[in-house]
Amino acid sequence: MTKCVFCGADILDNRSMEICDKCGVGVWGPKQWNNIKKTTDEARDRGDLSLFKEQEENNEPSFKWKDLGRSIA
Ligand SMILES: [Zn+2]
Repeated sequence: MTKCVFCGADILDNRSMEICDKCGVGVWGPKQWNNIKKTTDEARDRGDLSLFKEQEENNEPSFKWKDLGRSIA
């Protein structure tokens, strides 16, 4: 089970972003959030997110999904 990095809510689907819809929409707005989810899921499917996974495993939970989303969107 994945938990939202912002609020700790359970995330039920297997999206690559560890951010729930509520927080995602709150930060980026619904349109951009959908775009971010799509983009990151596609990147994961291609294997591009291995880079971010590494970061996640090595670091404290303050890794910057927020900044990542901004750079993608
Ligand atoms: Zn959340």
